[in-house]
This record gives sequence, C-alpha cells and structure tokens, in this order.
Amino acid sequence: MGIPQTMNVVPKEVPFDIFIGTYREKLKELFSDESTVERLRVQRRFPDSFLSEVRQCRPLSTFISKEYGGRGGHVHEALSMLEESSYQSLALSLTFGINGALFLQPLHRYGDAGFKQRVYNDFISGDSLGGLMITEPDYGSDALSMQTHFTDTDSGYKINGTKHWGGLTGMADYWLVTARRKDEADQLARDIDFFVVDVRKDDQEIVVEELFQNLGLYPIQYGRNLIDVSVAADQRLNPSSTGIKLMLDTLHRSRIEFPGMGMGFLRRMLDEAVQHCKERFVGGSSLFSYDQVKSRLSKIQAYYTTCSAMCAYSSEHADIQNDLSKYGLQANVIKSILTDFMQTASQSLLQLVGAKGYCLDHIAGSATVDCRPFQIFEGPNDILYQQISESVLKSMRRLKEVNLFSFLSKYDLSSRASQHVKEILDFIPDRQMPQRHLVELGQLLGRLFSMEFVIELGDRGYRPSLITNCISVLSEEMERIASSFSSGNLSDPTEDYLVDSAWLSFVRA
Ligand SMILES: Cc1cc2nc3c(=O)[nH]c(=O)nc-3n(C[C@H](O)[C@H](O)[C@H](O)COP(=O)(O)OP(=O)(O)OC[C@H]3O[C@@H](n4cnc5c(N)ncnc54)[C@H](O)[C@@H]3O)c2cc1C
Repeated sequence: MGIPQTMNVVPKEVPFDIFIGTYREKLKELFSDESTVERLRVQRRFPDSFLSEVRQCRPLSTFISKEYGGRGGHVHEALSMLEESSYQSLALSLTFGINGALFLQPLHRYGDAGFKQRVYNDFISGDSLGGLMITEPDYGSDALSMQTHFTDTDSGYKINGTKHWGGLTGMADYWLVTARRKDEADQLARDIDFFVVDVRKDDQEIVVEELFQNLGLYPIQYGRNLIDVSVAADQRLNPSSTGIKLMLDTLHRSRIEFPGMGMGFLRRMLDEAVQHCKERFVGGSSLFSYDQVKSRLSKIQAYYTTCSAMCAYSSEHADIQNDLSKYGLQANVIKSILTDFMQTASQSLLQLVGAKGYCLDHIAGSATVDCRPFQIFEGPNDILYQQISESVLKSMRRLKEVNLFSFLSKYDLSSRASQHVKEILDFIPDRQMPQRHLVELGQLLGRLFSMEFVIELGDRGYRPSLITNCISVLSEEMERIASSFSSGNLSDPTEDYLVDSAWLSFVRA
C-alpha cells in the first residue's frame, strides 16, 4: 500500500508504519512553514484550519477501538502518535493526550454503549475535541472535596458548579465533568461521578467566565467555567465499583501514558542541544568539546533513554482492558520522574544555547515554559513523590521488613536496579519520617524503579552505550539525593522574617 496523502481512508485499514509515517511527514510539512509556527507562537488558540489539517491524518483514531472505527486503541500506537506530535509541539501532543487519556479512554471503559457510538463518530469522522474538568478554584490537589454537585431529574441529571484550568476550555465540544451527588438535606456524597457534557446541546452549554493568560502552551486555552447543565441518563459514566476507583483508573492510565508526550519532547531537546553544541564555537572550541557541556548532554541522553524504557513499559501494561486503579505506584513514578526530567532537560538546553534561547520564539525558551505545568497538573510532583515513599514503606511494614535494600532487592520493580546502588539503600527508614524526607525518598525510589525499566529495555537489545550511560546518570542522581536526605536538615521558615533582617541597618558606616 502506498503512502496516502491523508487518512481519509479508514485509518484502521492502514498498516501502522504507513499511518505513523504519513502523520510524521504531515507534521514536518506543517511545522516547516514559518508563518504557521509564528501563528502557533502568538495565537492563544490553535487555528481551526491547522487542527483540521493535522486531523486529516486521524491521530485520535489510535485511541479508539476498531468496533467504533478506530485503529484498535493499542497503547504503543497512541504513544507513537503522541511522540511524533511532541517532537514538533508539546501543546499539540498535550491536546491529543487530553483527548485520548482524559476523555476517549474513560468513555471507552465506562460510557453507555449507544452514547459512545455517536461520540466516537464525531471524533473519527469529524473534528470534535474533548476534555476533563475536575479542578475547582478552591479544590485542586484536594479534588475529592470538590463542590460541583448533581441532582436527579426526570430524564437524567442536573449539574452545578465552577471548574477551572480544564485543558481546551472554550475549544472542546465534549467535557467529562466530575461532581458529587447532593441529597435532599443538601449534603454532598463522598463519592465522585463523571458526566459527559455536549456543549453544543441545549441545556448543556458551559459558560466560559474568564480565559487565563497561561504562561506557556499558548495554543491551548484555559479558564474558569460555570457549570449549570442538564444531561440525559446515558451521559453518566458507569463505574464498575466506586467513582473514586474510576477516577484512579483514569488518572493512573493518563500518567502512565505521559511518556508518549515526553518522548518526542526529550528527543527534540537532545537533537537541538547536540546540534547547537556542535555548531557553536566559544573561546575557539566547539561547545561540544567542553566537559561540563558533555555532562549536560549525557544527562539529557539519559532522560531520553529512561523515557524510552517507560514507553516500552506503558505499552505492555496499560492496555485499555486493564483496570489501572491499583497501578498508583507505577503511574506516580512515571509521571513525576518523567516530568522532572523534561523540565531539567529544557533548562539545560536553555543554558547551553545561552541568551538566544531566552526568547519565546526559541525552542529552548518555549519548551521550558511549556513543560513546567506538567510538574503541577495530574498530581503535583511533591505529592506524588510522598505517595511513592508511603506506598513502599507500607509494603515493607506489611512484610515486616525493616531494611530498605532487603525489601527492594526482592521487589519486582527494583530487584535488579537495587544491586547498582546497594550502599545508598542499605538503611532502616525512620517510621516517623518528615514529609520533606518522604518527598526526597520518593525522588530516589522513582529513579530506582525507572532504572529497572531501563535494565529491562537493555535486555531486549536496546543500544548498550545508552543503557550504561543512563544507569550511571540515574545512580549519580540517587547518590546526590541520598546525601541531602541523610543530612537531617529540618529548617523551618521564619514567618515574620522582616523583623531585624534589613541588611542596611547592619552596615558599619
Ligand atoms: C497547564 C495546566 C493544565 C491543567 N489541566 C487540567 C485539566 O485538563 N483538567 C483539570 O481538571 N485540571 C487541570 N489543571 C489543574 C491542575 O490539575 C491543578 O492545578 C492541580 O491539581 C493543583 O491544584 P491547584 O493548582 O489548586 O494547587 P494547590 O492544590 O493549591 O497546590 C499548590 C501546591 O501546593 C503544594 N501542596 C499541595 N498539597 C500539598 C500537600 N498535601 N503536601 C505538600 N505540598 C502540597 C504543591 O506544591 C502544589 O503544587 C491544569 C493545570 C495547569 C497549570
């Protein structure tokens, strides 16, 4: 079969290498046009014509099963599509990531069969977009305390509340909106329910009260939304047990699929850094020849390898049929480590490029602000690191194991990686560990579990020099974290710090 110009042919019938090759070429063509790139840089919303053109290749068909006209929902295909997108634009990749992981996949797993058919048609044959609204102005990390609520009506449900920061605000046609049931005594239930809202329908319009001036990711709109809608009974998702479990399954799947977005982004950071350092001469030598520069490049390369290993792991474990509600540890490790690596890589590229990189129209500058919120959304990384530690310490208590290395050397996510860093793991963790140490321990454990993914990838024949470099970079980072962890510094901030602290009054004139 030749390479089609677009995917107007049914995408499920196109072999994957042709499908992804066509998509790659389409993006290359679009992003080689300076005026398109300039428009994406300054416009606070994807131009409709741009998204329509990209979607001629049917990228979202990778998230949809064959029975609904998609390519089958294979994770490796979706991750590859996200990778191609993020090589050119992180905002584009996040747009498709939101649509896939935060809308189409939960709809697939929990949506009403008849309702799904209509929605999927809009995504396969049309250009519909979907998103997820969980966060509220007063409830972000503490999402389970959300105040958006629903009550029963004769034909379905009425939902009221205020949501903000939903990616694609004012752009998506469909929203998954979370709410708690309000009873007759005005009490809110503890559980959370999910509803699909079609904003093009009467009674389902979501009013955008304000659009935010988001720092990066310009083509994606964010804002504050007023929810006052009525939906039909078949627009409520059906959890297999509780709504909270549905939410965990959805968020864990999304976090586990982050490496698709990270992969193209890190590859781009690496390509840009290598090219710049080869071409730039400082003090008569190529930047590439300086030792500190090599150190930065080898770290970005290690992050690229780690992300590759995560992609392989996710492809084999996040099948749409699997309930991922119990995959909290893996999901938290992948999301937090990867997004920290994305930010470190872009900061390093910006450092290497120098002043020229400190511009919104340079990839180093834009990449740094674009990837920053990945450390905040879908679980702020500080909280995820704490949860990683708590999960490991809980398992140790259950097994009555007190030594960290003894536990990790028998644990399937770290049995081999732990042998590389035995000395730093060979201690008995304090049961009353302060939160800041739990966070640091989480950063260390996250790198350890990531190293296990890397070792596994190495077993399969992945380039040995990249595996060796990656293990060495991750080990070094773990050593650094362990030394700050063992320093025992528990300093507290002084609240009224201005008292007796004006430096000028201490100058001896
Ligand atoms: C670009 C972007 C895209 C987003 N996309 C979406 C979306 O599509 N849908 C959606 O529903 N929401 C979205 N969000 C919202 C995002 O999920 C929330 O911002 C996030 O959950 C954090 O909530 P918050 O901003 O209210 O911060 P808060 O809950 O106020 O937390 C702020 C910070 O306080 C610290 N903190 C909080 N709790 C603790 C604790 N227990 N221990 C220690 N430190 C703590 C952390 O450092 C945290 O980052 C998006 C946000 C951004 C910036």
